[in-house]
Amino acid sequence: MIIIGAGMGGLAAGIYGQLNGYQTRIFEMHNIPGGQCTAWKRHGYTFDVCIHHLFGCSPATRINRLWQELGAMPRELAYTTECVSVASPDGRLFHDYYDPDRLEAHLLDLSPSDAPLIKEYVNAIRVFARMDIWGALMFGSGGEKLKSLWSILPAYRSFRYNMQQYAARFSDPFLRQAFPLLVYSLPDAPFFLHLARKANGFNRDVAWPVGGAAQLARSIETRYLALGGEVHYRQRVEKIITRNRKAVGVRLEDGTEDYADIVISNADGRKTILNMLDGMYMDKRIREYCGEPLDETNWAAHVFLGVSRDLSREPSALIMLLDRPVQIAGHSHKSLEMQLYGFDKTLAPEGKGVIKVELFSTYSYWRELYNNKAAYDEEKARTAGLVIDLLEKRFAGIKEQVEVIDVPTLVTWERFMGGTHGFVNMPNKKMNLFTGFVNQALDSRLPGLDNFYLVGAWATSLGALFANAQSGKTVIKDICQRDGKRFSVLG
Ligand SMILES: Cc1cc2nc3c(=O)[nH]c(=O)nc-3n(C[C@H](O)[C@H](O)[C@H](O)COP(=O)(O)OP(=O)(O)OC[C@H]3O[C@@H](n4cnc5c(N)ncnc54)[C@H](O)[C@@H]3O)c2cc1C
Repeated sequence: MIIIGAGMGGLAAGIYGQLNGYQTRIFEMHNIPGGQCTAWKRHGYTFDVCIHHLFGCSPATRINRLWQELGAMPRELAYTTECVSVASPDGRLFHDYYDPDRLEAHLLDLSPSDAPLIKEYVNAIRVFARMDIWGALMFGSGGEKLKSLWSILPAYRSFRYNMQQYAARFSDPFLRQAFPLLVYSLPDAPFFLHLARKANGFNRDVAWPVGGAAQLARSIETRYLALGGEVHYRQRVEKIITRNRKAVGVRLEDGTEDYADIVISNADGRKTILNMLDGMYMDKRIREYCGEPLDETNWAAHVFLGVSRDLSREPSALIMLLDRPVQIAGHSHKSLEMQLYGFDKTLAPEGKGVIKVELFSTYSYWRELYNNKAAYDEEKARTAGLVIDLLEKRFAGIKEQVEVIDVPTLVTWERFMGGTHGFVNMPNKKMNLFTGFVNQALDSRLPGLDNFYLVGAWATSLGALFANAQSGKTVIKDICQRDGKRFSVLG
């Protein structure tokens, strides 16, 4: 098998392929494994652009079993007491603790008059924490799925709300402002998703892999190599070679051709279908999927700071509410979300720390600037300057403590890992998050083309490491079934 891309889906397809007697090799355009699961070093600081919350850290869950099969677990983990914290300009702090008892007491302190709603909120977390919900919904049998849905029935009302709607029920003005932002500053995020994340955190299934995303990816690559797989780095696939409507190999950027019985692409779906396959294998549905993605505001830029400051007593993630909107990177920001990595000492020199600020912006904003490299670099520097000025309001003296600055944008993602608009590797289709996780039907085949599969975010439409790793497993299971083989995770 030839696999295009060493992201989660590609590496997992490689591992399960090797375990099931297929000889596999991966062609990866970057010089490291992991794709979006990535980090890099700058002057002794590690800048991790990916992981906020890693699911599957408790040996009691099914996602953990997947990570074990992939060589990613067991590993050293760091647990934080809160999912995220929110600070108001006047100094109020809301810690969204994982422990429901601690959370309840803290919220009652902040807003005694919201007692009934606070009780409802923490009880819903307790309901979601009764079972390995994600594991059962994603990987369980029909019966297990039903059992897990039954177990969350007492919290059925939570499915009515998104974060903004739930927040509107608080009477306290600070909580009304802070609560909608708890899921990565996305007020439209479904409330149940937040509950599930909090429940997994309470059950110690959500944690931080010490060393960060690049080391997580490296451990999966190590497992793949140990099973006899090959990864060829700095090898961009340009075309997928087909004969008689079957994928038979790939042509690399340097013109080299390589042949195999099966080709699996973990690369961006649009680029795979439209460029590598010249748009030859599309029906109406796939054509719609491949439409130009909307230029939505999302984490289009990150500001990384290596600071000579101890961050170990700071919250692990913080949303700073701003006293007035500030225009940064072409977008009006009313708040600033950041990760403060004081919980992982391996990411910075002794006594120092890393801050990552995630900025809403657009791909087109940065793409246009990139046409003039000087203007692009100038805007990156200006963006970092504005962010540092805002941080100074909460972290007095930080301006003088900044030692390293790095500002990757969606154009940076595009350069290093392909992806339409950087990391938007998902089809244009209506996606229901709940059914997405429960159903897990992959969009991994193309009409009229045999011996070809897609894995990763395009196939799952989900932005989660475990879901995209699982897609590699599912595709190898399908191939085994097609070949009349019993699928094995043991080799
Ligand atoms: C900012 C950010 C934060 C995130 N935070 C979390 C989190 O906290 N928890 C979580 O679970 N998930 C998180 N995710 C989601 C998760 O990282 C992704 O869903 C997952 O990594 C995607 O895996 P994938 O299999 O789709 O492969 P990708 O990561 O998309 O990898 C595809 C690979 O293919 C390679 N490639 C592309 N084109 C070619 C070509 N032509 N030839 C050769 N190789 C090619 C690329 O270089 C890349 O290595 C986050 C994602 C982002 C972007």
